Amino acid sequence: MNYKRPKADVVVVGLGWAGSLIAEELTRAGLNVVAIEQGPWHDTHTNYTPTLSADELRYGRRREMLRPPSKETVTYRNNSSQTARPIRDWSYWVQGYNVGGAGTHWAVNSWRFTPADFTMATRVKERYPNEKLADGLIVQDWGVTYDDLEVHYDRFEKIAGISGEAGVINGKKTGKGNPFEGSRTNEYPTPPLVRSRWNDIFHKTTTEMGYHPFPIPAGTIGAPYKNPLGIELAPCTYCGFCGFYGCGNFSKSSPNICVLPALMDRRNMTLLTECTVTKIEKSKDGKTATGVTFIDSNGDTGFQPADIVCVTAFQLDNVRLLLLSELGKPYDHARQEGVVGRGYNFQTMNYAWLYFEDEALNPFISTGALATRIDNFNGDNFDHTGLGFLGGAGIQSLSDQATPLSMTDRLPEGTKKWGSEWKHAFKHSYQNYAKIQGQGTSYSHVDAYLSLDPTYKDEYGLPLIRQTFDYNENDRRMARYIHERVKEICAKTGAKSWKTKAYPDSHNSPYTPYDSGHTIGGAAMGLDPNTSVVNRYQQHWDAHNVFVMGASSYPNNAGYNPTETLAALTLWTAHHIINDYIKNPGSLVR
Ligand SMILES: Cc1cc2nc3c(=O)[nH]c(=O)nc-3n(C[C@H](O)[C@H](O)[C@H](O)COP(=O)(O)OP(=O)(O)OC[C@H]3O[C@@H](n4cnc5c(N)ncnc54)[C@H](O)[C@@H]3O)c2cc1C
Ligand code: SF4
Repeated sequence: MNYKRPKADVVVVGLGWAGSLIAEELTRAGLNVVAIEQGPWHDTHTNYTPTLSADELRYGRRREMLRPPSKETVTYRNNSSQTARPIRDWSYWVQGYNVGGAGTHWAVNSWRFTPADFTMATRVKERYPNEKLADGLIVQDWGVTYDDLEVHYDRFEKIAGISGEAGVINGKKTGKGNPFEGSRTNEYPTPPLVRSRWNDIFHKTTTEMGYHPFPIPAGTIGAPYKNPLGIELAPCTYCGFCGFYGCGNFSKSSPNICVLPALMDRRNMTLLTECTVTKIEKSKDGKTATGVTFIDSNGDTGFQPADIVCVTAFQLDNVRLLLLSELGKPYDHARQEGVVGRGYNFQTMNYAWLYFEDEALNPFISTGALATRIDNFNGDNFDHTGLGFLGGAGIQSLSDQATPLSMTDRLPEGTKKWGSEWKHAFKHSYQNYAKIQGQGTSYSHVDAYLSLDPTYKDEYGLPLIRQTFDYNENDRRMARYIHERVKEICAKTGAKSWKTKAYPDSHNSPYTPYDSGHTIGGAAMGLDPNTSVVNRYQQHWDAHNVFVMGASSYPNNAGYNPTETLAALTLWTAHHIINDYIKNPGSLVR
């Protein structure tokens, strides 16, 4: 059966962080919003009851909160001469699939990007006029700056109750926090978490090496807190069942805890769950959207007309929906023309796994984001002259969520994987194991892109999104440089042994266990319609009433987790829809 719903002012596709924030802003401004979410409703009290949500088999291993690959997955290949195959067992490409999106089970590392991350093309011209970039590298400015976003970063941190310690306030270094961060107008709304024993060791080691360690900002609430929407949050208990799990303690920043209690009470807000949007419909002249088509849980096809379409379905789904809707010119790899799918990118990572002797690191006292970090080698915080690459990485002592099953393979090199030797080693290693993570920048490349797969389809018969991706030469050079810095730190910690890995030293593989879902790009924002899909307001160049929000807008990735920046960009876009677009619909770039 086909049916048409009453017209809305705005339809929002997907209700994760981006969808919840845009819906909250626009309903508060009086607009009538309908949000369409493919997953089910999740309620913190019933779905994330503390004792039941700490079920490692269900959530950590079987990943019950993620979108099942049987519903929809992606296909993957390293280069365009290969045939892509569907991913059936997720390692790091893990997507949200419920109201709240991945914001319910994220690990809550909550970062602002640095000012340089938004303007790298300009910066390279000014700072490195004589350096040659690796062939095929795409480096372009975002069209929006850190200063444009500062007020929106601040607003998000207050909504989410982010814990942390400011390094720079109103241009002045505080002597604490991260001295390399962009200037902030305010301190974090809640205090940083208490350092773990491993964080203490890392802090001491890196201080002695002349670096500047600081506690990372996180969406784990540092103290009892009431956010600007009037919602009360509780302090984190360091339970350790955090990334991949829901938080029943009301301590993890999530759309479900921080936004939805206020949003769902509004009469001008309607939510349709278990409905999948399959297409953005266009007007006859193709210059605007008329609404979206979706398939509901009965298998019926609905049409939701709206004046404004907000696409907030996660980076990969945003790009897929644009391609399925034939909105914007798809990237043609052979000709290197077109924009939708261009500039797909990921994140370069380095790791060290360290083993101490007779320590009591108590790794079960943890959160998804309990870390001490140095940013001395991140982004453009150091001089790259003569190094042959752009970018860098934040290096941090991440206190692992030492849940029992996840620890069974955290053993020194050469340990037997079964029997009494394994048991003895596991018992010994549990208290003595620690991890360093180098979370790096990534710049796009002409050979990495997203397109519709010609063979594999989802449950509705629509093509899956195909990823063509491998690390590029810039990633490899940068990762090797960071790898050396990580090894130097390992050698000073007092650990008995360690093993290290720079991921770009091998081909990128979605089957490699890897701690990141930080895919970006494919619908980049920018100042030129020939190299971007959306303008600096995340407004589609070809259809002025379509706004695309999420990490799909990033032309490059920073050495940070992506979510706080996509949240700030969403609030920036909301501000311009409310204050400019509603009064005078049309392109905001006049
Ligand atoms: C285990 C894990 C740990 C992470 N840890 C961190 C971290 O520490 N820090 C950090 O910054 N980031 C982290 N991330 C990434 C972070 O969760 C995402 O960046 C963020 O949630 C993206 O927000 P979003 O609103 O763009 O998309 P999502 O949260 O994915 O929300 C999109 C919503 O759209 C829905 N949807 C998709 N397609 C359709 C459709 N066609 N029709 C209707 N609905 C649709 C989805 O079901 C989903 O609910 C982590 C991710 C995972 C999975
Ligand atoms: S570690 Fe803290 S924020 Fe994370 S699930 Fe446990 S109580 Fe919640």
